[in-house]
Amino acid sequence: MREHYERLIDGCRILMLDIPYSVEDLCNITVDLVERNRHVSDIYIRPLAYKSEELVANLKLQELSSDFTLITVPFGNYLGSDRLRCCTSSWRRVDDPMIPARIKACGIYINSILAKTEATIAGFDEAILLNHDGHVSEGSGENIFMVKKGIIYTPPLEDNVLGGITRDTIMQLAGAELGMEVQARTIDRSELYLADEVFLSGTAAHLTPVIELDCRPIADGQPGPITSQLQRMYFDIVVGNNPKYLHWCTQVRQPIAAT
Ligand code: PMP
Repeated sequence: MREHYERLIDGCRILMLDIPYSVEDLCNITVDLVERNRHVSDIYIRPLAYKSEELVANLKLQELSSDFTLITVPFGNYLGSDRLRCCTSSWRRVDDPMIPARIKACGIYINSILAKTEATIAGFDEAILLNHDGHVSEGSGENIFMVKKGIIYTPPLEDNVLGGITRDTIMQLAGAELGMEVQARTIDRSELYLADEVFLSGTAAHLTPVIELDCRPIADGQPGPITSQLQRMYFDIVVGNNPKYLHWCTQVRQPIAAT
């Protein structure tokens, strides 16, 4: 949770959103709301920092007051499949000098929505976007990883990707638990076709294998062994079943069952 809010505050700095809360405050507000809403299923937590001035036609961030809101809603399987058939999008990822992809800004999701819509209308589960240079950036709402000859690769943040918290988690786990080399480096589209394994990562998407890209199977078209190992580890950790990584989880009080 802390890392998510650190990223939100970074985004606020870029967008001159001066919200009156620290990372600590935002974490406390979140735990409080989750407890009050008494959820009994998996949920989605959606914080939003926004410009709150009651004014129209003012594009000057420095003149507009800011505020913060938070909702929590029950949430199921985001991607709708546990093995993904993806396509390369005809839409390109937004470029840093246009709208920085490293911030999680609502407007950027127009880019994601165009790509996701195109992909799903064409019968695929998810879109992989290339950046302005034609290199692989990420999914519409997920970071991407490729395994090739025992090394794990993911595009660097400079290739117009969001600094995913799950991306970071997986990079750490692959090194610490599987002893694997993990490299953030530019990836070509055609490298993905020839990868041993490809998977996507995100808070909503968890860690999900890509079994096919542009109608070409990835390796034998089945989830790969490293993906499966990381996936099992990740699922265990996020539900608090691995004591070693309990510090990555935040505990909330359980709602009392209705009688
Ligand atoms: N890229 C994009 C465009 C996203 O919307 C998301 C989801 N937040 C991610 C990557 C994954 O980030 P995280 O692991 O922090 O959820």
